[in-house]
Amino acid sequence: KNYQIIIEENRRLYNEVQELKGNIRVYCRIRPFLQGQNKKQTSIEYTGENGELVVANPLKQGKDTYRLFKFNKVFGPASTQEEVFLDTRPLIRSILDGYNVCIFAYGQTGSGKTYTMSGPSINSEEDWGVNYRALNDLFHLTQSRQHSVVYEVGVQMVEIYNEQVRDLLSEDVPDASMHSVKSTEDVLELMNIGLMNRTVGATTLNEKSSRSHSVVSVHVRGVDVKTESVLRGSLHLVDLAGSERVGRSEVTGERLKEAQYINKSLSALGDVIFALAHKNPHVPYRNSKLTQVLQNSLGGQAKTLMFVQINPDEDSYAETVSTLKFAERVSGVELGAARSYK
Ligand code: ADP
Repeated sequence: KNYQIIIEENRRLYNEVQELKGNIRVYCRIRPFLQGQNKKQTSIEYTGENGELVVANPLKQGKDTYRLFKFNKVFGPASTQEEVFLDTRPLIRSILDGYNVCIFAYGQTGSGKTYTMSGPSINSEEDWGVNYRALNDLFHLTQSRQHSVVYEVGVQMVEIYNEQVRDLLSEDVPDASMHSVKSTEDVLELMNIGLMNRTVGATTLNEKSSRSHSVVSVHVRGVDVKTESVLRGSLHLVDLAGSERVGRSEVTGERLKEAQYINKSLSALGDVIFALAHKNPHVPYRNSKLTQVLQNSLGGQAKTLMFVQINPDEDSYAETVSTLKFAERVSGVELGAARSYK
């Protein structure tokens, strides 16, 4: 009998680990090559469904040239916004069943994070990024269930810059302010206000937004009309600071400080997701403001999706490899050099 208990316990643990790994997904998206003077393209090969990707080092020849990576999926340069969102849909649905969902965009500045999350414009439906599509789905679903469940939706938006958290939707409140919303448009309007507040003090939008993280949190509370039971779920849309490594010799003073804070918080995020994927008993949430803010929404039953963005320019090769290494650590699959690939 004891034997049976042990088998069952093992099975339960095994399933838990599998489930948790299933709760962390990493999708890689390769930005199209944009023509320019003296620009060359990195040789990248991939199988989309399999999630395998091989990059060739432009400075090497022979067997050390190739590196193999594996993710849940790879989206090539020709993939559409709709295709990219397709696999995100079930996650959005799960929010109304009481799950917390975090969606991140990771990559160096110019690798397509904004394109994937927001899209090039909101005027044409085709262009819509993950943010717009996710919110649209969320509100459609709440409406379609409104006869059985009454939903309340609230939004918060903060920026994390140099390890300081700032509310982007109102001033002088100790905690991030919560704003009640009824539609996708309401959320977008708040996001625009947040975006405007984010640029205060910066000369250009890109100048600051690429060096701070922004977190949009959508909290859903549903009350079942019949049973009056309450379910809470949330969606966090996280636009991470550019992951580019800044060499010590290139910057000093304020810029160096910023770069150090960014490196610190991105690696803290990587450590937390890694610990969760491996079911480590200790998850190091306290090591950065970013992971502290997201502590209740990462881990447990929460679902995490990371879009890892790749810039195909040859002069971005070193950044590309460092991005891919981060992503493979986060996804818990480390393959190393693809010596036998060709
Ligand atoms: P990031 O937010 O990482 O700094 P952007 O999203 O601003 O990068 O992308 C950099 C440039 O590449 C922009 O001009 C953007 O329109 C273009 N771009 C990025 N991804 C795509 C894509 N999938 N298709 C077409 N153009 C893209």
